[in-house]
Amino acid sequence: MLVPIFTLKLNHKINPRMVAVGKYDGIHPCLTAATQAGKVFIHNPHTRGQRPVAHRLSQSTQDSDISLLNINQAVSCLTAGTLGPNTTGHTLLVGSQTNLLAYDVHDNADIFYKEVTDGANAIVLGKLGDNQSPLAIIGGNCALQGFDYEGNDQFWTVTGDNVRSLVLCDFTGDGKNELLVGSEDFDIRVFREDELVTEMAENETVTSLCHMHGSRFGYALANGTVGVYDRTARYWRIKSKNHAMSIHAFDLNADGVVELITGWSNGKIDARSDRTGEVIFKDNFSSSVAGVVEGDYRMDGQIQLICTSVEGEVRGYLPASKEMKGNLMDASVEQDLIRELSQRKQNLLLELRNYEEKDKVVYGDVTQCHTFAVVDAFGCHWMTINICLTQAAPSVSEGEAKMGVIPANTQLQTALSVRRATESQRAHIELNISTPNETIIRAVLIFAEGIFEGESHVVHPSAQNLSGCVRVPIIPPKDIPVDLHIKAFVGGKTSTQFHVFEITRQLPRFSMYDLNVDPSAAQPTGRVTFSINDRPQRVVMWLNQTFLLPEGIDSPDITFTAQRSGGLLRINMQPSGEITLSTNDIDLAGDLVQSLASFLAIEDLQADADFPAYFKELRATLTEVDEFHSVHQKLTAAMADHSNYIRNMLVQAEDARLMGDWRTMKKRYIELYDLNRDLINEYKIRSNNHNALLACLKSVNQAIQRAGRLRVGKPKNQVITACRDAIKNNNINALFKIMKAGTASS
Ligand code: CA
Ligand code: CA
Repeated sequence: MLVPIFTLKLNHKINPRMVAVGKYDGIHPCLTAATQAGKVFIHNPHTRGQRPVAHRLSQSTQDSDISLLNINQAVSCLTAGTLGPNTTGHTLLVGSQTNLLAYDVHDNADIFYKEVTDGANAIVLGKLGDNQSPLAIIGGNCALQGFDYEGNDQFWTVTGDNVRSLVLCDFTGDGKNELLVGSEDFDIRVFREDELVTEMAENETVTSLCHMHGSRFGYALANGTVGVYDRTARYWRIKSKNHAMSIHAFDLNADGVVELITGWSNGKIDARSDRTGEVIFKDNFSSSVAGVVEGDYRMDGQIQLICTSVEGEVRGYLPASKEMKGNLMDASVEQDLIRELSQRKQNLLLELRNYEEKDKVVYGDVTQCHTFAVVDAFGCHWMTINICLTQAAPSVSEGEAKMGVIPANTQLQTALSVRRATESQRAHIELNISTPNETIIRAVLIFAEGIFEGESHVVHPSAQNLSGCVRVPIIPPKDIPVDLHIKAFVGGKTSTQFHVFEITRQLPRFSMYDLNVDPSAAQPTGRVTFSINDRPQRVVMWLNQTFLLPEGIDSPDITFTAQRSGGLLRINMQPSGEITLSTNDIDLAGDLVQSLASFLAIEDLQADADFPAYFKELRATLTEVDEFHSVHQKLTAAMADHSNYIRNMLVQAEDARLMGDWRTMKKRYIELYDLNRDLINEYKIRSNNHNALLACLKSVNQAIQRAGRLRVGKPKNQVITACRDAIKNNNINALFKIMKAGTASS
């Protein structure tokens, strides 16, 4: 069994996801991690007693191998690596909600210290696209920003929601890196420089991303899911009731292919095959894992996998030796496996018995047997159903029906239709599953991502309600296409065995839109207009494919009621090829533009837009941003004044004490106490003000992203860049002009 090659117990706690290994002198790897109270520790066991202490760095009192870097505010991300073109050592990068520090640990000096208004939740260091030198790229409040070694802002763009994870990899296979961004709106987006190449919808916040090899990457979600993608295709995933704290790619069994190493909140570490997700190794820490990294920590030319816990425990593992033949787990794990296999054997024996019994039925010859294990969201097994597929018969006797024999013409029919909100039920899509004859549906199992809690849904009508029809309400939370994998158990009323039908139906992307329109409904005031060179029939094809239309339509002029918001969506196409989408929902307009452009393979699309209600809201937000900024300045000045008062008061109190003037001393200390209380209150106000400012800035970044999504290709990038310039120059009128016309110049 694989055991750690070294273990360390550091006397410092480690913040989850903020762990890196840096060679700051170009030679010696140092484990580096954010710890409590706004500090970063650097563990350097290689060059004892050679460290000068100056500037931000100080020596740990608890551990002689550790230096502490004072950041003086909560650290939100860190990494280390090569940033400068001519530097031998690695640069340490530390992000907080307001700043990014690039630090030269070896020379104890700041390389740059930048204010970042959108905060740094995640950081990645490396080459992006055509950039010749590496960039430190941070992701924050709906924005991405990249700095070169001089602190110049070389890259900026907006994204759909707060960024939580970043990774660089060659997603497209052209030899240049793309930036993969995981965010709180459950999406993984791929950027080729500032151009959005593709997005994959997940079903929870994407908390970690790591590059495996080629175009393959690992990901982790806030709900305990980890898995592997190759480009846009998901290879495998598993879900745990614990949280994946850190993921890392490492070839632990030395077969030349990296495994996905996951560190979990319950202290477990596991290594899974990149192809299948099968566990090839696991180990346990006594507390939550904080970070998984790698480095040659023993300086012997072999790279170790280095795992750290939040309590400061560190373990290094060498890849398995040849003698282990990839067999990394100990006997107790093998016993678990044997137990699992013998359970499987039991189930197979049970199925075999079913086959033997079935031989007695003339038409009911069993063609296939299935054992279903129903598993809840946390992986707990709560029921096993044995189902036998039987040969259909032309006519069925009562005895045969009991054995699950069903008529040969039995087919499962499914229909999807939009249902408006009623007093007792929200608006939804109704999935109608039915059989055409006297057979009944005993149970339906539906598997669909992002729709049901735990991704699957079971319907099993009570005995007196059995019929040939089951209706399932479906409410997709957002406009994305969803595959519904349906398993229906069909038989007679008295059957004990059932025939299983399996069907997959796709819910179109825009299915929550109904053709029934209330004539008195308010007309939308928002719209986006653009011109295409395609025939109207192609737009009709797109409509039939992406909306849930009961009979299909033949004209591109159509009005829907949006079932989620109740507002109208009107689509109109002129003979000239000019299309107008009218809706008050700017997000919907953007989704429709992106969907239509990708259907028609349009690379560049300029558009003219107006969303009066939304723009009015945005104008108010921008005014608030100004107010918060001026309040911030006033508060900063007031705090500086108070700090000076406190210094004076302290000196006066100390003078009074030395002179034995107890009355004055007491008076000064009472005043100090009051000042201190005021300072704390001011701090609270300042902090609330800052949070409110951040929320506003997020709305502004989102608005830029939304304006971009009304266009495609170059015009889209131009809008985003021009909007940012307008905001930098505080030119609000230009900003709205760009959002509407797509450019500031016309
Ligand atoms: Ca590429
Ligand atoms: Ca391997």
